[in-house]
Amino acid sequence: MENIDWNNLGFGYRKTDYNIRCTYKDGAWGDLEVSDSEYFTMHMAASAIHYGQEAFEGLKAFRGKDGKIRVFRMDENAKRMQDSANGTLMARFPQEKFMEAVTKAVKLNERFVPPYESGASLYIRPVLFGTGAEIGVKPAREYMFILFVTPVGPYFKGGFQTTPFVIMREFDRSAPLGMGKFKVGGNYAASLIAGQKAHELGYSNIFYLDAKEKKYIDECGAANFFGVKNNTYITPKSESILPSITNKSLMTLAEEMGMKVECRHVPVEELATFEEAGACGTAAVISPIQRIDDYDTKESYVFSKDGKPGPISEKLYNKLRAIQYGDEPDNHGWVTVLD
Ligand SMILES: *Cc1c(COP(=O)(O)O)cnc(C)c1O
Repeated sequence: MENIDWNNLGFGYRKTDYNIRCTYKDGAWGDLEVSDSEYFTMHMAASAIHYGQEAFEGLKAFRGKDGKIRVFRMDENAKRMQDSANGTLMARFPQEKFMEAVTKAVKLNERFVPPYESGASLYIRPVLFGTGAEIGVKPAREYMFILFVTPVGPYFKGGFQTTPFVIMREFDRSAPLGMGKFKVGGNYAASLIAGQKAHELGYSNIFYLDAKEKKYIDECGAANFFGVKNNTYITPKSESILPSITNKSLMTLAEEMGMKVECRHVPVEELATFEEAGACGTAAVISPIQRIDDYDTKESYVFSKDGKPGPISEKLYNKLRAIQYGDEPDNHGWVTVLD
């Protein structure tokens, strides 16, 4: 295994040995290619860099106590990238090829998959973008799929912890009939200013309301939201939310724990009634929310007085992590064990 200080890894890019590429030309995808270079050449008129014809994914591989490597729900990421391709008129990358690329990249970089004890994991980043030279606003005829991996540290260095979020009505993440439901880079570019503002004010991120009416909860930063009350897991339903695979998994687990699960509009005032609240996504699984301050109304919704996560958030977090690392059986076919 690589000589890395596994216990002090952050969430940054670190070079690994190999990456995967695939190109789309003349109406067809070519073969997967393995490269040891971190660079590629691209036409300066590529549609990706002018008009943002781009989508990406993020998933993880984990090393278990048994030394085996497990990849979590990669079929879901493959499908979601196809949705994003449909949403941006890009060539769809075949699902089978996507999973083959993930498997190949993880195996080729096996020495970078962190040891079980570290709580770290191997982050996998697939990207799909238009490379064809276009100057008119239209979809490119050529595309590239790249996939690289990089080891990342545990999200919670000092243990499972809550953080504060802030509602600021001057920012929207995405429009109701816009691109919010697709995992495209443009949504992230559009969120940088809001994120920076939140950080300057001492918050983890912005808590977004629906862009049209500013009445309902949308997302928290680049993560889905869930609230817990009366043994019910509640997560917003909205056309502008990115369908999180973590959230989907947590809903399944919550149901199995005997909780009720509701996916519906969540009015902002309802925040006052939640016993627990969290942001969820691949990076942290659950990032429990300490409180949400409303910058505009000065209202403050507190979920944790002592800064500790609530019991249900903790239980869901531990359960999902246990499945990912292979500590508990995978009864849903979520995990691909690499051999
Ligand atoms: C990727 C992403 C998420 C989390 O999705 P997961 O599949 O759980 O990682 C949530 N919101 C946005 C905007 C995202 O881009």
